Amino acid sequence: MIELHAHSTASDGTLDPAELVARAAAVGVTTLALTDHDTVDGCPAAIDAGGRDGVRVVPGIELTVRVPRGTFHLLGYFAEPAPPALVARMGDIARTREERNAAIIGRLAGLGAPVDPDLVRAAATGRVGRPHIAAALVAAGHCSDYLDAFARYLGDGAAAYVPAGAVDPVEAVQLVKAAGGAAALAHPGTLLLTADELDALVAELAAAGLDAVEAYRGDTPVDEQAAYAALAARHGVLATGGSDYHGPALEERGRVLGSCGEPGPDPDALRGLLERIV
Ligand code: AMP
Ligand code: FE
Ligand code: FE
Ligand code: ZN
Repeated sequence: MIELHAHSTASDGTLDPAELVARAAAVGVTTLALTDHDTVDGCPAAIDAGGRDGVRVVPGIELTVRVPRGTFHLLGYFAEPAPPALVARMGDIARTREERNAAIIGRLAGLGAPVDPDLVRAAATGRVGRPHIAAALVAAGHCSDYLDAFARYLGDGAAAYVPAGAVDPVEAVQLVKAAGGAAALAHPGTLLLTADELDALVAELAAAGLDAVEAYRGDTPVDEQAAYAALAARHGVLATGGSDYHGPALEERGRVLGSCGEPGPDPDALRGLLERIV
């Protein structure tokens, strides 16, 4: 069983890298890619744990990419945890993310929902992001729960939303490819684009070397997944999948480690993607 999309405490997952690998082993995952938001910090510990638990760990990342509308995440899979071509840009990527978090916190203050930046930081175990700001909003009593925080303040296009990303789409693909990696467009549904706009974007990315579209995810309607698989086929890239695992709490919403629901991706596509890593 191959799982190509999972988060640890290095970003906004709730299991640390070793716990994540142990859970993967327990549910029968044989190859696990660790794809934290804008960081590869969890990869060495995951690889060590993989050696102990008999899981092949593929070091990866989920890059936040700059787009006019919605959220663009590019998955990168590598042969080593810290490919030099990527490390060279990681500083900018981390800085942009911190500036964006500060901008969101500034907007929240202006909206009458102030949160203490130190408490946001304290809610995070690694790279800080909107999930940790959501936790601080709940702790401060401004929101009833995590989803309320996204609905009212933090979700794409909501009142305190600030666009993210240090790199543009084509540059992001080039960055992954220059590091010898394989690149997959994550969950295309978060891009708030029309079908034609998405088609044009994938054409541009495919020309830049995109390897795959992540068409399959357990919480995505079956007809949508089929449309993304067709999108991948039109542009001659693989149709992959992953659970986008963030920990046990989200499993009831369809994010089950090692599973993309039914029908799920063709295992040959997942293997084919991994074969492209140099
Ligand atoms: P960030 O990288 O700071 O933009 O945060 C992205 C993460 O926030 C995603 O991977 C999810 O974990 C979470 N997220 C984004 N939008 C939502 C939403 N509408 N509801 C719940 N969680 C969300
Ligand atoms: Fe996340
Ligand atoms: Fe994502
Ligand atoms: Zn993810």
